[in-house]
Amino acid sequence: MGDVNFNNLDYQIYLQFKKVFMFYLPRLCEHCLNPACVASCPSGALYKREEDGIVLVDQERCRGWRYCVSGCPYKKVYFNWETGRSEKCIFCYPRIEAGMTSLCSETCVGKIRYVGVILYDADQIATAASIKEEHELYPGQTGIFLNPKDPAVVAEAISQGMPQSYIEAAQHSPVYKLTVDWQLAFPLHPEFRTLPMVWYIPPLSPLVQFFEESDDDIHDPEVMRIPLTYLANLLTAGDKEPVRMALRRLMALRSYMRSKRLKGKADADVLEKVGMTEEMAEGIYRLLAIAKYKDRFVIPTVKKEEEIDLYRGQGAAGFNSHGA
Ligand code: SF4
Ligand code: SF4
Repeated sequence: MGDVNFNNLDYQIYLQFKKVFMFYLPRLCEHCLNPACVASCPSGALYKREEDGIVLVDQERCRGWRYCVSGCPYKKVYFNWETGRSEKCIFCYPRIEAGMTSLCSETCVGKIRYVGVILYDADQIATAASIKEEHELYPGQTGIFLNPKDPAVVAEAISQGMPQSYIEAAQHSPVYKLTVDWQLAFPLHPEFRTLPMVWYIPPLSPLVQFFEESDDDIHDPEVMRIPLTYLANLLTAGDKEPVRMALRRLMALRSYMRSKRLKGKADADVLEKVGMTEEMAEGIYRLLAIAKYKDRFVIPTVKKEEEIDLYRGQGAAGFNSHGA
């Protein structure tokens, strides 16, 4: 076995040790499309901003009921016992308004965070959140995301007063590529039905290198160290197929890049098996491995006083469309 710490141990126990796995899952507020925190607040203090979807707590309206704390299934609202108000991630909205990304994504040393605009059909939120079959919730949510390059979507967005900078940002959104175009990222616990908007790329197990060097089928995530079932329970309400395909694509990308760099000949066959083209593989490689700051964070700036109807937005100004 090689490791002296396992000397004289029952071999079966050693095998159990080898099955142990861990990975980090950084969690922040999901800035949900159907936020349970907003729905549960009796004071109307929690609100979702119309202009960018950020969910905030109006500190002046909060009366400390704390329904939001128990209402958020992700446990992302915290009660401040000093002020008697609820607090939560603000998605660094002052930075976002200035065209900068959030601090946690900017400072992430692993450079694993991407921030971008997604256009969606707000009229379909209730339908997507009410889908009965839990396995259908993930595809149901991607189904309400709109293709920002579709001329009909662009025309509708313009007619509804969306600033040009938002439309352009949506067209270059790294998040749209990861979620819709390449289907590599998934929502955390879609069965909570809040339609979360922070999505995750499932991790490849550390043992992938072992399988690449062995005769095993390197494209079968079922044999990997982090159980596929576990990842599916986290990301697709237990449906293994979408996660399996994402992992197979990531592994195929590794094989493809290896063949290109080490063997001097790109092996496109490995991509074909998982429905990828060389162009797609290069796009994923560029975004996940070598993307520049401006490609990872595509944040539109807008002169709000010119382009957004402040009366309709429930912004930090502290009034809403009902004049309260
Ligand atoms: S994650 Fe929780 S706090 Fe954040 S928007 Fe969703 S329900 Fe609200
Ligand atoms: S750094 Fe900003 S976006 Fe990140 S968790 Fe904190 S408030 Fe939210």
